[in-house]
Amino acid sequence: MKIIQNILQLLFPNKCISCQEIVSHDATFCAKCWPNLEFINSPRCEICSHPFEFSLGEMSKICANCLKKTPFFDETISIYRYNDVIGNAIANYKYRDQTHLAKIFAKILVSKAQNFIDDCDIICAVPLHKNKLKIRKFNQSILIAKHINSQKTVSDLIIRVKEQQSQVKLSQKKRIRNLKRAFILNPKYRDKINGKNILLIDDVITTSTTINSVSRVLKKNGAKKVKVLTIAKTIFS
Ligand SMILES: [Zn+2]
Ligand SMILES: [Zn+2]
Repeated sequence: MKIIQNILQLLFPNKCISCQEIVSHDATFCAKCWPNLEFINSPRCEICSHPFEFSLGEMSKICANCLKKTPFFDETISIYRYNDVIGNAIANYKYRDQTHLAKIFAKILVSKAQNFIDDCDIICAVPLHKNKLKIRKFNQSILIAKHINSQKTVSDLIIRVKEQQSQVKLSQKKRIRNLKRAFILNPKYRDKINGKNILLIDDVITTSTTINSVSRVLKKNGAKKVKVLTIAKTIFS
């Protein structure tokens, strides 16, 4: 077995998913990238996964933002704080044709959130508009969802009816307006999500505006619970 592994490693060297440095056959990140990954651990907001600097005890498990305006989703787990290392790995996957990384990201998500995933009836993802899908060829989050559990994944549950404008330069208010009515439930699932626990997969949460818009559609159509699972989350401090 060892010999076969060595030959395979010579022919198809395993690479760090971020910087592409050659690593041993069972490593995901190289020794330089690994220490720079920042995990989002407890204590963190139960709803949006925003990390707290210190624990405030049983009383405070929800951040100020979620207290001010309760999101439509109920719980979030984001594995990493967004930085260059994880950002580069996600970019390799999304924009540089490394679709084999879907399996690796799924493995990371399962290893950190197994119970969270098991608890769900349906897995879905933030959809891309059909024009964008034509360019990218695949929905990065759906592909990860299928590797997590293909039977539970419903890839066309939500439809994006409005093309996404760049959100980057928009104010929070304009982002919300921009995304309003951008998503609808696919009519063929109209009565299928009532009372169900839904898991929403995304690669990165930047402002929560998008996942909140999708969660709103799911809740308005009777979903009991919406949980969000993402690889990374941008933390604005
Ligand atoms: Zn690396
Ligand atoms: Zn929160």
